[in-house]
Amino acid sequence: MKDTPVRLFDRFDDIPKLNSFAALPATFYTRLPTTPLNQPELLHVNAEALNLLGLSAHAVQDPSFLDVVSGTSAMAGGQTLAAVYSGHQFGQWAGQLGDGRAHLLAEIKGPKGNWELQLKGAGMTPYSRMGDGRAVLRSSVREYLASEAMHGLGIPTTRVLALVTAKNPVMRETVETAAVVARMAPSFIRFGSFQHWAARKQPELLRQLSDYVIERFYPDCLNASNPYVSLLESVVTRTAEMIAGWQVVGFCHGVMNTDNMSILGLTLDYGPYGFMDGFDARHICNHTDTSGRYAWHAQPAVAHWNLYQLANSLHEIIPDADALRAALDLFEPTFLNAMQQRMMQKLGFNNWQDGDETLVDDLWSLMQASHADFTLTFRQLAYALSPVDMNQAGITQQQIEFDLGNTVNPALKPFVDLFIDRPAAEQWLERYRQRIARNIQTAGFDRIQTMLAANPLYVLRNHLAHEAIEAAKKGDVSEIDSLMKILRNPFVAEAGMERYAALPPAWASRIEVSCSS
Ligand code: AMP
Ligand code: MG
Repeated sequence: MKDTPVRLFDRFDDIPKLNSFAALPATFYTRLPTTPLNQPELLHVNAEALNLLGLSAHAVQDPSFLDVVSGTSAMAGGQTLAAVYSGHQFGQWAGQLGDGRAHLLAEIKGPKGNWELQLKGAGMTPYSRMGDGRAVLRSSVREYLASEAMHGLGIPTTRVLALVTAKNPVMRETVETAAVVARMAPSFIRFGSFQHWAARKQPELLRQLSDYVIERFYPDCLNASNPYVSLLESVVTRTAEMIAGWQVVGFCHGVMNTDNMSILGLTLDYGPYGFMDGFDARHICNHTDTSGRYAWHAQPAVAHWNLYQLANSLHEIIPDADALRAALDLFEPTFLNAMQQRMMQKLGFNNWQDGDETLVDDLWSLMQASHADFTLTFRQLAYALSPVDMNQAGITQQQIEFDLGNTVNPALKPFVDLFIDRPAAEQWLERYRQRIARNIQTAGFDRIQTMLAANPLYVLRNHLAHEAIEAAKKGDVSEIDSLMKILRNPFVAEAGMERYAALPPAWASRIEVSCSS
């Protein structure tokens, strides 16, 4: 069957829209216009997102494009609004929060599904509290890059369409430059959106929100005896899988407050996130998180705690507490199973055998003891066995050197050289070799190819984001461009891009990332 040609539009105004969230009662949001920026400039556009929305490449040239993505003028056919929600921040009930600097512009009917388009940093809303409704270039570049990096890694996430900067000074610790990210998701509804109505003892509104989410995003739940329980089960499952996706690439979210947890199981609200360089299970990426509540190792338990808060809210419309508990109990097995599947691919096992758990745990311990580079440890493991093994897998020495960057980039070290205790790494590798020899023979299974497809060569390391930000401040977006290209396909080595795969420079450890954005 041939795909019907997709009709692409040259102007936002012409794309079909639905605006289903805006059709909910006005208690769920406040309609209000964006506040235009001073001399906005389009810094970057994500071509892949244009396609998703059904916009042509010409659309970017039309002046209306910048007008819409900068918040200068509204989108015809859209319904600009800021949504209300509440939430727990760092474990404490914070009461009402809401879109303090985000405006939903419209829900666009894309060729393969609908996308809400939201601007972050386009002015104050009734939910701004003490904030100024703005976002700075630094954090906007970070959100812009991280969204597409996560997508490239196959981890569910919100996406981005465009990055805009402007002349407005924005006061943070110092004066910074204003920016807006135009971001997209099927929905931006959060756990906190549910908590809001439970806290206000308005079960009817909670029910209405749940019905909306089920109808639009979880229609299968309608077949269940209790669709609301089924909704919770689905959110628990999706969240557990998303967190497993984070853990196995060393991603730390940094601010896993309940208002930053997507009801669709998408990675949402990129702030002081970080991809680990050297492995430390207790790694805290957010300088503001002094107690380590959101450290890497804590993320699964925090996700479960957040789901517990969601379940607690849903108790207003699901009186059966046992059903809620049973739904929450799905988290652990789902998460552990998702981790096991991913670790099998990362280590090139084609089944799970007795002793594998110990072997994997011992690898984590070795990595911890040496603070071995998270990304390179797994990537180089694919190549760590003897040349004979490599030949059997059809991998040439030339390919290995190209990927490792050995010829041009001696900083990219082979597996055992990533560890301080080299003999311990050698010993572990010998056990790994014996385990690989016990892989069952399965037609079509190629250990090295499986591992290379599961272990990225490139991740958005902090120092890479930092360099892209510094260049962007001077109007140079070439680094953003290069990063967007390699992070879109982070499992494939690109010629000339060796430095993006290298170990971080010494100054990288001094970068501090906080909640300030
Ligand atoms: P976050 O920690 O970024 O998820 O933000 C928590 C809450 O603070 C959300 O309700 C945001 O909309 C709000 N917020 C954060 N920064 C600002 C800002 N500069 N202006 C207005 N609201 C903000
Ligand atoms: Mg947030």
